[in-house]
Amino acid sequence: MNNNDSIIINEMHAMVEQLNKWGYEYYVLDNASVADAAYDSLYDKLRQLEKQTGIVLDNSPTRRVGGEPLSKFQSHRHLTRLYSLDKAQTKQELANWVNKILTQYPNCVFTVELKYDGLSVNSTYNEGKLISVATRGNGIVGENITAQAMCIKTLPLTIKFDSQVEIAGEAIMRLSQLNRYNAKHPDNPLKNARNAAAGALRNLDPRVSAERNLDIIMYSGASQYVNSQVQLNDLLADNQFKINDVFEQVSTIEQIIKVIDDIETQRATYDFLIDGVVIKINDFGIRQELGYTDKFPRWAIAYKFEAEQVATTLLDVEWQVGRTGKLTPLAHLEPVELCGATIKRATLNNYDDIIRKGLSLNSIVLLRRSNDVIPEILYALDNCQDCQPIHPPTHCPSCNSQLQHKGAHLYCLNRRGCPAQIVNRLSHYASRNACDIEGLSDKTALALASTLDISMPSQLYSLTAHELAQLDGFKDKRISSLLSAIERSKSVQLSNLIYALGIDNIGIVSAKELARVYGSIDNLMRADKESLTNIDEVGEVVADSIIRFFDDDINRREINTLQAVGINPTYVDTNSVGALNGYTVVLTGTLPTLTRQEATQLIESNGGVVVSSVTKQVNLVLAGENAGSKLDKAQSLNITIIDEQGLLRLLKK
Ligand code: AMP
Ligand code: ZN
Repeated sequence: MNNNDSIIINEMHAMVEQLNKWGYEYYVLDNASVADAAYDSLYDKLRQLEKQTGIVLDNSPTRRVGGEPLSKFQSHRHLTRLYSLDKAQTKQELANWVNKILTQYPNCVFTVELKYDGLSVNSTYNEGKLISVATRGNGIVGENITAQAMCIKTLPLTIKFDSQVEIAGEAIMRLSQLNRYNAKHPDNPLKNARNAAAGALRNLDPRVSAERNLDIIMYSGASQYVNSQVQLNDLLADNQFKINDVFEQVSTIEQIIKVIDDIETQRATYDFLIDGVVIKINDFGIRQELGYTDKFPRWAIAYKFEAEQVATTLLDVEWQVGRTGKLTPLAHLEPVELCGATIKRATLNNYDDIIRKGLSLNSIVLLRRSNDVIPEILYALDNCQDCQPIHPPTHCPSCNSQLQHKGAHLYCLNRRGCPAQIVNRLSHYASRNACDIEGLSDKTALALASTLDISMPSQLYSLTAHELAQLDGFKDKRISSLLSAIERSKSVQLSNLIYALGIDNIGIVSAKELARVYGSIDNLMRADKESLTNIDEVGEVVADSIIRFFDDDINRREINTLQAVGINPTYVDTNSVGALNGYTVVLTGTLPTLTRQEATQLIESNGGVVVSSVTKQVNLVLAGENAGSKLDKAQSLNITIIDEQGLLRLLKK
């Protein structure tokens, strides 16, 4: 190694340390100290040096992106056996356990922690470095999932201890991450955060693990260094592990129950699944005296929350016709209590879903609240004698026209004449996040369709008072307030209009992003798949829905008509005449005087739009020091690049 190399390697060490510090602040402490752009540009610079030298340091964050798929998992023998936990099903059972221990050890202190519902993993460090991560398996031998687990940003790659230690914990997928993932993969959503976490790690392709953005919460191990759970937690936190969100020290059963009750009331607000709490004896000396049974430690117990699954009868399946003509089966159930709510209905995806789950009318089905939010039918437990098979409909339940298959779904193609589609389309268009037309209820939409033959939202804009007077219950006041609400909706913002169009799989969040990136409906209509999938919120399926929507003649005509009545918003406020009107700008690197936030404000207040990724729609890149891959991409797309001086000059003109 020559002198120059060693200078570069020192520089890489410093960069890795800085990035890991920022990553720790962001992922573990949830308290970022720098803007994403600063992290990104240093990261890009590190990548560049790694490519140049061919050296990737052991704790480099670039190791976390997920390498090549494996052909199979190797088995891994744990150094110390991993145990399961004994369970208390009732508070009485828990009290019996606690009181028995207190008779033997009157001053015993207990800890109460959340029992995370994910996949339990065991990580091994040696000489301060992460050397392996494995699943629990049978407690003695598990599967080596090191490549997969390394993608988890809350798992430190290096720690402070030189000797060999094992640290065990639970890998989870946060519900917010699950929702983000599902917004991007609407055709193949993950049903449940626990299975999503387990599936991410027990997947041979580490890139799948990386994409799911898991977390790891650690709760045991390194017992050679500490004498209690409290000390262990401190030690783990000190080594930058993420530790339990709830950690209470208590000494009576009353206190334990108080903590449990608090957790149960908080449970619905957590961004992760738990299936109970774990009560442990704090002192490791007492733990040693009590020891283990075949399966469990005698010094800990799990109090499990009530089962999330119940059985009930499937009474009927109703086929609902959505605004795009897609039919969705809705199951009507014998009402049943689940997680404190009465469940009467559950949605199913399509007919294949019904077959796959083995459902028939009157069958007993197992119901689960996945993520504790949406009730879901898992499968039929039993198909009794008076069970009736469920047949897919051949004709639309609303307009009776013949249904067509498109992919896995059935569609009614009678777009302009199907009452269900019209009503859903009009009320979606009028909803708050869309064009916000107050007074256009489902009932009014139905009346507009049946009495005045209105089938597309654009027709609302030519309605007259005389026509509205033909509807039941429409007198002067109601007529004029509906007409003025319709008129007001012409000044809808671009994001709300994109949402209002009713494109399959586009919610308000992705509509906002599309508005920001494309700036107008015309630009969005021209967007190709590559440009669409460049957007964070947009995956393949969503991109396809957008393209399919704009390929359709009826939709294009509808948009023309809307534009003709004056509905054609751009993302930039049309009243502002800033120097950057019409500019879509990307920031990259560190500017000499302006912070990223100040620069963004300056651009926006002058009519420009700031977006995060470089696409063909971007026409200006503001680059500072340490600009990374965004700059390269801008150059390759021939986009104008300016520095801070250049920006200020542009604004003075
Ligand atoms: P079980 O698999 O139901 O016997 O419960 C034992 C499992 O609970 C352990 O293997 C861990 O994966 C999991 N667990 C979740 N949170 C904790 C915690 N705070 N302490 C101990 N185990 C936990
Ligand atoms: Zn129909």
